Amino acid sequence: MAGMKDYVNSKVSNNREQIEFHVKEILKLIGENVEREGLLETPARVTRMYEEIFAGYDVDPRDVVGVTFDEQHEELVIVKDIVYYSQCEHHMAPFFGKAHIGYIPSGKIAGLSKLARLVEAISRRLQVQERITSQIADILDEVLKPNGVMVVVEGEHLCMCARGVKKPGSKTVTSAVRGDFRTSSALRSEFLSLLKQ
Ligand SMILES: [Zn+2]
Repeated sequence: MAGMKDYVNSKVSNNREQIEFHVKEILKLIGENVEREGLLETPARVTRMYEEIFAGYDVDPRDVVGVTFDEQHEELVIVKDIVYYSQCEHHMAPFFGKAHIGYIPSGKIAGLSKLARLVEAISRRLQVQERITSQIADILDEVLKPNGVMVVVEGEHLCMCARGVKKPGSKTVTSAVRGDFRTSSALRSEFLSLLKQ
C-alpha cells in the first residue's frame, strides 16, 4: 500500500541493537543454533520488519484522513476491500484481511486513498480486530462528523490457524456502527448488500 512505506517505527529504529539482541536470545531459548547460516541475519531482518509492521505507532490516524468539503453529497459512500495487515496483540502473530467502510457525509468527505491510509495507520500496531473496527468508525465519526458510519472488517488470524483450534481459512468478521446506521436497519442492509456486489 502506498504511503506508509515512508514511515518506520522510530522507537524500533532507535533501539535496533537491543531488539536484535533480544531476538537472538529468543532464538537461543527455543533451541536454535544462532550461528547457522540461515539465522545469521534473522535478528536484523526481524528488527527491520518491526520498523515497518509497527509503523502505525508513529502516526496519528486522525492526521491521515484528508478532509475535503462537499456540501452536495449526502448519500451513502462506500469504500470496500481495503487490504490490511496487522499483528494480534495476544500472540504477536499476523492477522490480515479486508476492511469495508460506509458513511453518509454531512458536508465533509474523505479522499478515497486517505481511507486506506487510515486503515493502515490503525493496523500497523499490535491490535485486535474488534479494536481496528471500532477505531476506524470512531475516528471517521470524529473527523468527518458524518450522519452515520458503518465499518465491517474481515480477518484471518494466523494464531488461530497455526495453533489452538487449527481452522485454516476461517474468517472472523467484526462490525461497528455509528449515527444513523445504529437506528436504521434499512441502511445497514443497504451497506451489506452493496458489499456483496
Ligand atoms: Zn492471537
